[in-house]
Amino acid sequence: MMSSPPPSAQCLDGKALAAQWQADTKQTVDRLRHTGIVPALRVIQVGEVAASSVYVRRKAQVAQALGIDSDIVHLPADVSHETLSDVIVGLNNDSAIHAILLQLPLPSHLNPLVYQALTDPKKDVDGFHPMNLGRLLAGDTPYALPCTPWGCIGLLEAYNLSIAGKHAVVIGRSNIVGKPMAHLLLQRQATVTLCHSKTVGLPALVRQADIVVAAVGVPELVRGDWIKPGAVVIDVGINRTNQVTLVGDVAFEEAQTVAGWITPVPGGVGPLTIATLMRNTVALCQQQVQG
Ligand code: NAD
Repeated sequence: MMSSPPPSAQCLDGKALAAQWQADTKQTVDRLRHTGIVPALRVIQVGEVAASSVYVRRKAQVAQALGIDSDIVHLPADVSHETLSDVIVGLNNDSAIHAILLQLPLPSHLNPLVYQALTDPKKDVDGFHPMNLGRLLAGDTPYALPCTPWGCIGLLEAYNLSIAGKHAVVIGRSNIVGKPMAHLLLQRQATVTLCHSKTVGLPALVRQADIVVAAVGVPELVRGDWIKPGAVVIDVGINRTNQVTLVGDVAFEEAQTVAGWITPVPGGVGPLTIATLMRNTVALCQQQVQG
């Protein structure tokens, strides 16, 4: 007897959604430019981490394509606390700059929390300033929300996937992805389990999830038999297995036979992060010019 083909999850097409968001952002930038306002983003890169250089260049290219004034402030890996602080304060005080992004990771002699707190919260395009994170925690409105988790929420909403009342399991508790993701889901009335490297019984927890968000950095950690049939699977992970191949934190081929919806890697969350950065830049600009 022939076996029927395995069920296949629907793809959550982050690339297509990002293209749509970028087209919308470009229209807003065009309108602002007609009134003499040019949204401006500055990306600070310290040192020469290869992956950071790729991300920073990509962000600058997309910003330019949308008409955003963008530049990279490149500092040497041994830059002092004083110099980095002066650069940030200089950008804070420059009224022509609306958005500041400090590319992570920083070299080990520089604590990112210090510089995130030094950035003007109104220009904090990543939403990492303690005021912005505090507002997220309190259910208030931050000036900007962290780009990757905010992009993931936008993806769920674009596909009309309901969050309220669902059990969401977030794997990874970084300040950049996991923690803000958990809070954004909680704010939208999910029941949230936040897992990390010391979590015991991870597969059994993931099996309970209606929504899984994997933000770990371990290639294909989440296996197909961890996924509840029909679940929504968002794979934030970007892992290079060799020079050319990117894989996520989820074993895609296994998981897509069980899940209801799944993001591919590449082409899922990655493009949405950059598109959200552009949206945040323009939103900060609008907030500043409108006072
Ligand atoms: P991180 O290293 O700061 O945090 C990883 C988290 O995973 C930690 O909280 C750790 O406790 C947890 N963890 C590690 N091993 C685990 C295990 N075996 N089981 C359960 N939890 C475990 O990483 P990050 O900055 O949050 O990034 C996570 C992944 O997402 C990376 O692959 C990164 O490249 C990717 N990322 C992608 C985007 C995007 O735009 N798609 C943006 C940011 C990060």
